[in-house]
Amino acid sequence: MAKRDYYEVLGVGKDANETDLKKAYRKLARQYHPDVNPGDKEAESKFKEVTEAYEILSDPDKKARYDQLGHAGFDPNGFGGQDFGGFGDIFDMFFGGGFGGQTRKGPRKGADLRYDLTIEFEEAAFGTEKTINLPRWEICSECEGSGAKKGTRSETCSRCRGTGQVAQTQRTPLGQFQTIRTCPECEGEGKVIKQPCLECNGKGKIRKNKKVQIKIPAGVDTESRLRMGGEGEAGELGGPPGDLYIFITVKKHKFFMRHEDDIYYEQPINFVEAALGAEVEIPTLHGKVKFKVPEGVQTDTVFRLKGKGIKNVQGYGTGDQHVKVKIVTPKNLTSEQKELLKKLDSTFNEEQNKVEETGANKEKGFFERVKDAFKG
Ligand SMILES: [Zn+2]
Ligand SMILES: [Zn+2]
Repeated sequence: MAKRDYYEVLGVGKDANETDLKKAYRKLARQYHPDVNPGDKEAESKFKEVTEAYEILSDPDKKARYDQLGHAGFDPNGFGGQDFGGFGDIFDMFFGGGFGGQTRKGPRKGADLRYDLTIEFEEAAFGTEKTINLPRWEICSECEGSGAKKGTRSETCSRCRGTGQVAQTQRTPLGQFQTIRTCPECEGEGKVIKQPCLECNGKGKIRKNKKVQIKIPAGVDTESRLRMGGEGEAGELGGPPGDLYIFITVKKHKFFMRHEDDIYYEQPINFVEAALGAEVEIPTLHGKVKFKVPEGVQTDTVFRLKGKGIKNVQGYGTGDQHVKVKIVTPKNLTSEQKELLKKLDSTFNEEQNKVEETGANKEKGFFERVKDAFKG
């Protein structure tokens, strides 16, 4: 069968520019691609024909040779051999992600990464910036991800002609069967690297410790997750990178407890202060606050310092600080102090000696009890 003119095959004029050629090829290649026409011999040969035409016409040197000599400029037997190459990239561009059910590998999004980060209580409350060392795969800058040595290119796999698949025909008494499997030559990549990049050994990617700057917003808590788009592993064959997820753990504070955006704190006072009332200094995340404990305060009484909690991570206001008064009974009193207390005790009447019940529900979980206790 006589070879058709390459321009005719692609349906373009001799003056077609690069864009015209690409457009024409793209349209026809999609139409005749073996993945779209499984088992269709005619489509397969059409596909080969347009691919061949495009391969020649898109290469300025080959195009010049073809324009001058026609098909005679190329050894038809050599086609499909070492001379056939250089459009792997176009394949990726057109067929990436691909048609349903195909096994050929196209561009793929890189893997998402998880990084566990432990931060201080205050850092969670006010937000912070952290630089982490993240080991991840990055596109090799030497070969720009192609995996081919600088100055060379990956070549279209001659076995599968870049489709990543090969068809096997079996003749049986019942008829002819065709099975399609992943090309063993290129393992489905559609291209082969003759001279691998020395920097990445042909992988196109390099494992690197990348410094990543993380902005942690105020109000995060343990189990908060931050997503950093595009900071995951490099994509495959030109695919986009994956995402990075930061899993936050917040360290415990020496004397603050946190529940959602509220802070819980216990303020010890002695029983004289409790009886007479006192002005005490209470630590908060926002600095010390002077607070007047009223006369006759009972232990476990809770006061609320409005707005002294943690800023809501979604911007819904700021929590409060709950202050629970703990009356500390003095130990190691001197005999003089003991005498004074005895004297004081003898002045109490029956009403003043009444004991108040506290109602902590011991059946509830720890946090429930803490919250209950703070409700006062
Ligand atoms: Zn490389
Ligand atoms: Zn192959």
